[in-house]
Amino acid sequence: MTETASTINCPNPVCGIPVTATESSCPKCDTPLHDAFSEQYYEIDVAHSGQTREEARLQIEEGLNYALLYRYKGLKVIHGYGGANRNRGVIAKEAKWRLQDIADRKGYELEQDRHNPGAHILNFDR
Ligand SMILES: [Zn+2]
Repeated sequence: MTETASTINCPNPVCGIPVTATESSCPKCDTPLHDAFSEQYYEIDVAHSGQTREEARLQIEEGLNYALLYRYKGLKVIHGYGGANRNRGVIAKEAKWRLQDIADRKGYELEQDRHNPGAHILNFDR
């Protein structure tokens, strides 16, 4: 999942070739990729692959590091609503608690995704 997320299209509209975010500039047109993700959220799903609570916790930690490393606007975590699925309910609760904790400690803003009640967005903008 992290492999595909690190590939983007060159932001130069006349170029637009797929490039890896680890490059500092586009190999074809030299457009700097430094801020390539600054308008996007890095998205992870911690609830729909049968994750355990511990796996979900690690996924959030890794996702946070990755999003900060590539200077994303923030981190979007899909945690599901829980509902009838007991394990997912635990994950959703754990994810929300964990994200709020990170937000409080780092001074980020945590908000419910407007389009998805089963997701929260951690905004790095201060
Ligand atoms: Zn390019």
